Amino acid sequence: MNVFSAPAFDDHEQVCFARDPDSGLKAIIAIHDTTLGPAVGGCRMFPYASEDAALEDVLRLSRGMTFKSALAGLPLGGGKSVIIGDPRRDKSRELFLAMGRFVDSLGGRYVAAEDSGIAVADVRTMGESTAHVSGIGETEHGGDPSPSTALGVFLALRAAVRHRAGAENLAGLRVAVQGLGHVGFHLARRLVDAGAEVFGADVNGDNVARAVRELGVTEVPADEILALEVDVVSPCALGAVLNSDSIPRLRAGIVAGAANNQLASRDDGARLMDRGILYCPDFLINAGGIIDVYHQRLGSDAATTRAHVARIEATLGEVLTRADACHRQTQDIAEDLARELLGRGVHARAHAA
Ligand code: NAD
Repeated sequence: MNVFSAPAFDDHEQVCFARDPDSGLKAIIAIHDTTLGPAVGGCRMFPYASEDAALEDVLRLSRGMTFKSALAGLPLGGGKSVIIGDPRRDKSRELFLAMGRFVDSLGGRYVAAEDSGIAVADVRTMGESTAHVSGIGETEHGGDPSPSTALGVFLALRAAVRHRAGAENLAGLRVAVQGLGHVGFHLARRLVDAGAEVFGADVNGDNVARAVRELGVTEVPADEILALEVDVVSPCALGAVLNSDSIPRLRAGIVAGAANNQLASRDDGARLMDRGILYCPDFLINAGGIIDVYHQRLGSDAATTRAHVARIEATLGEVLTRADACHRQTQDIAEDLARELLGRGVHARAHAA
């Protein structure tokens, strides 16, 4: 396993590994950059096929958090953690208490929050052994930041439609949502409320049934959703879904979704651009969750949080305008903008390529 020479290492400040035999905890915390503040980022639990896969995931996600927080105008750095294990089988109170102790050992340089495979209740358990957790407040949604993530993606999607087609309203727009979980469901609801025609897919039949029943979403098989003939595709399930296999099959003109690390590689951003597909950088438009978590910690009211999330629209507008002007990938422009805010040079970028 290579760490310093891993493709996603990109000058991480610190990468820590923990093993607690009593609880079975095997975890990694990656702190990419604390220039702007403590590294706040979700803790993910997943049955990774290998330790290398876990390391690559945490490094890529952590780096993305640095850019996300910088572009969102937050005084936070970028970090992430992963627990290697199956969330359906391997969760226990002891495991999360041990994870809390691991987080605590970093003295606040890393602050953990909820992510895939981890529930707010799990983060609360971690919070019994460390003060350095976020997103467990008593808010409108019980600490769940997903509705704010969905709001940011919705506003970005609308801005992308305006940019591409000049349309001010979403009535009749056809949108394919991949993944109807925490974010996808709230996004689908906003889209339906705005008059869009929403198609949805999920490998979890209960989530599809709920979206069909409560929102009137049209069900599509999971392996067909990305290639549907629609105006916008919104990946809200997993990373790396935009790749050499899926991109040639896309029929939408815009991709705007919540999933982290949607591009499997840098080349895939170029592939999208070559096909004339407008890609909204994931780490820019899915920042609503981290903005929400930040405001929960401050004790802000809902209106303040919403106003901050709404700034995503203007930032995306700037990225799209710059990308058009210099004919470059939106992802690269967004990363450059984040690096400008951080004062991180092109030197770090060369390592990340
Ligand atoms: P979630 O686990 O609640 O929902 C994901 C859904 O995708 C699940 O219902 C799952 O069954 C479904 N799914 C998995 N594989 C699929 C496939 N191949 N095809 C179709 N559906 C599939 O997660 P979430 O909180 O809604 O997050 C969704 C994505 O957005 C994740 O990538 C997450 O990292 C990212 N994200 C979430 C937040 C947040 O606030 N929750 C913030 C930023 C980014």
